[in-house]
Amino acid sequence: MPRQALELFIPGPTWLRPETRQAALLPEFGHRDSQAREVVSSIFDNLRAIAELPDDYDIALVNGSGSTGMECALRSLVADDDRLLCVTVGVFGALFHSMAIGNGKQVERLDFEPGCSIDLDVLEHTLRNGRFNVVTLTHNESSTGVVSDIVGACRLIRAHGALPIVDGVSLFGGDHSRIADALPAVYATTTQKCLALPAGQAILFVHRDALDKAAQVSNRGYTSDLLKHVEFGRDRQIMTTPDTTLLNQMQVQLDTIVHAEGVLQRFARHRAMRATVRAWATARPDRFELFVADADASPSLTTVSIDPALDPAALKAAMRERGYLIDTGHKKLNDILGAQSRRLLIRIPHMGDIGPAMLDRYLDALDSESAALRR
Ligand SMILES: *Cc1c(COP(=O)(O)O)cnc(C)c1O
Repeated sequence: MPRQALELFIPGPTWLRPETRQAALLPEFGHRDSQAREVVSSIFDNLRAIAELPDDYDIALVNGSGSTGMECALRSLVADDDRLLCVTVGVFGALFHSMAIGNGKQVERLDFEPGCSIDLDVLEHTLRNGRFNVVTLTHNESSTGVVSDIVGACRLIRAHGALPIVDGVSLFGGDHSRIADALPAVYATTTQKCLALPAGQAILFVHRDALDKAAQVSNRGYTSDLLKHVEFGRDRQIMTTPDTTLLNQMQVQLDTIVHAEGVLQRFARHRAMRATVRAWATARPDRFELFVADADASPSLTTVSIDPALDPAALKAAMRERGYLIDTGHKKLNDILGAQSRRLLIRIPHMGDIGPAMLDRYLDALDSESAALRR
């Protein structure tokens, strides 16, 4: 029996348009054939447009998910005797820290309160006292729904002689990457969030100076060697055998984003949906409360804390009956909030190809089901 088709309202993987699903039926191709170069070239051209990418950046596609790309950047840019700083505003910032530990790097952490963005004064103070070689940060923290000022942060990091690595996984394709102003050494993202594709391909934007640095780092690994990935990227290839089904979908979807919807229109749609969700939650103070201030609010997902009388599991079950898969918050973050006797969060994603009408229907369902559960 086929499984129930749920409309995904989770912060990745995201709902796919029927056209993106259809593109999975395009013919497979050989990954070292000229057809592969055509597909990869088209993907690169459109990624460049979406990233508003300066000329001195290379693009590399790495088989895997966002984490694979992040770890590739970390292993290739952080030498064993380097000092690494991981700036965290939530669970995904801490992911870089776990990777650093797992790879035996010397790492320190600078943590900000959940719900807040990076405080540049505190960052500057830490940088001044730390003499770091590399600093990681999160553009859009998906556990808390916070977007940080990566332009200000990356400028500070570079002013203190360190290389910034940015996790742009849940922002890229939903808003300006800001790569041209921030000049990160590496900006990492993936397919299954704001680009509204299945998971399977990490995408790296690599500045020239990251290549110079990587050349001096030993033990970069094989599938995590940034230099090899960039070399293949320059030849419009992927280092190890890719999923050609996903590449077909990427070609179609990225072309639609750039040439049918328009990059700026896509960004504007994400911001408009953020405004919709924030107004909706604000109008229901009995059940929902915004977790993040306007200035720090993510364009791709909104976190709201819920009335303690609402059982997230019951809400999820009720919404499932309606055909939706809802998000009941990042477990690690809710565990922390719960231990502090604070209200739990749910996340309302408005990323990828979710449109205003679809969002309105979802919010209507969430409204009636949450009201019914409190009665
Ligand atoms: C989803 C996500 C990741 C992890 O990406 P995977 O593709 O699951 O490996 C990392 N960082 C952020 C901000 C994310 O939202």
